[in-house]
Amino acid sequence: MTFSTLGLTPALLDAVNAMGYISPTLVQKLAITPALAGRDVLGSAPTGSGKTLAFALPLLQGLQPSDARLPRVQALVLVPTRELAVQVGEVISALARQLPRSVKVTVLFGGVSANPQMMRLRGGADVVVATPGRLLDLLAHNALSLGSTALLVLDEADRMLDLGFAEELNQLQALLPGQRQNLFFSATFSPGVQALVQTLLNDPVRVQASGPAQQPPKIVQRAIAVDAAQRTQLLHHLIGLHGWARVLVFVATKYATEIVADKLRKGGLAAEPFHGELSQGKRSQVLTDFKASRLSVVVATDLAARGLDITELPVVVNFDLPRSTQDYTHRIGRTGRAGVAGLAVSFVSAATLSHFRLIEKRQCVSLPLESIGGFAATEVPPPASTSPNAPGNGGIKGSRPSKKDRLRAHATAQKQPS
Ligand code: ADP
Ligand code: MG
Repeated sequence: MTFSTLGLTPALLDAVNAMGYISPTLVQKLAITPALAGRDVLGSAPTGSGKTLAFALPLLQGLQPSDARLPRVQALVLVPTRELAVQVGEVISALARQLPRSVKVTVLFGGVSANPQMMRLRGGADVVVATPGRLLDLLAHNALSLGSTALLVLDEADRMLDLGFAEELNQLQALLPGQRQNLFFSATFSPGVQALVQTLLNDPVRVQASGPAQQPPKIVQRAIAVDAAQRTQLLHHLIGLHGWARVLVFVATKYATEIVADKLRKGGLAAEPFHGELSQGKRSQVLTDFKASRLSVVVATDLAARGLDITELPVVVNFDLPRSTQDYTHRIGRTGRAGVAGLAVSFVSAATLSHFRLIEKRQCVSLPLESIGGFAATEVPPPASTSPNAPGNGGIKGSRPSKKDRLRAHATAQKQPS
């Protein structure tokens, strides 16, 4: 099947062809037609399955000819991280450049000076791709208006509706017209946000691009038993042994990204940390260098877990296990994209074994715990405990807010005393 049966205009079909896309992925097949018909869509599809085009194409087709006398944002795409804003902006801009008429796409995110963004907003923008915080700042400065925005897209929607962004989203919601189309996409929808999704969407078409018709992402998952103190050496060993050219390593804290990257660098590997406290310039540089193969290892927090599309990323390593099953899905989904095979390796120590079993259970997988010669685990798991906060469970995330969530909630409470 080709894109031609989905109801796209000839101009957009040409744009899709020019970009080299030949046939739509399942989520694109299922979501594009109802979205073009103006329906709200709640789309759930695996990582790397092409959700960006599933909303970008209807978004572009729905744009009205821009009118310089009426500067307005016609479509707003909200994403959780700056890097994802850039990436999604690039996909939309690349398609837009193939269209006969000009479409102004502006990307807004924090960590960089707001002035150039304000300048670019002069005269409006057809499409804005933004992280919520900077968007709210610019709205407060009247740099743009959402008063006639006809389309709202939430990419990584469950993250956007999560505690961490809920308040910002509420504020934005109040600035958007009630009459609008909504397209929400994510690989996961945690139970906590299901109810919220219902209230925000208007009679949505639910698109679930999983099940037998969807090629499951080709991600081979492995679990390796190793003592916590041996993990850096094991990682180094595996990279050398398998000749992994590019590895994304997830750890639990910003501090750990620095420590692990430092140790790997001392071991002769081109490794850099990636986390939210680096300057935006540094963050961009690390990703650019990684994509250009100037770096072979990036050691990241979950900041890098959402949406990033790094071509030919063969391996993801969970050096520290993620707190939640959703995070596990998103982390390993950085590899195995667009049908290309990938490998996800999780390091499991005695202290995190029960947490890993929980992740396995929720993922409906059962992985043999491998032992690598020279790195056999010697620690024994702590005795089973009934306390949910006992160290043995590795701190799985339930409805418990993360530190960032708590900070945001706190900041909100400060802003709005009542
Ligand atoms: P998701 O948001 O579902 O994780 P993306 O939209 O980032 O996935 O797409 C993953 C990769 O698949 C990208 O590199 C993208 O260019 C590619 N891709 C998307 N749609 C198609 C298609 N129809 N044919 C081939 N490749 C595609
Ligand atoms: Mg995506």
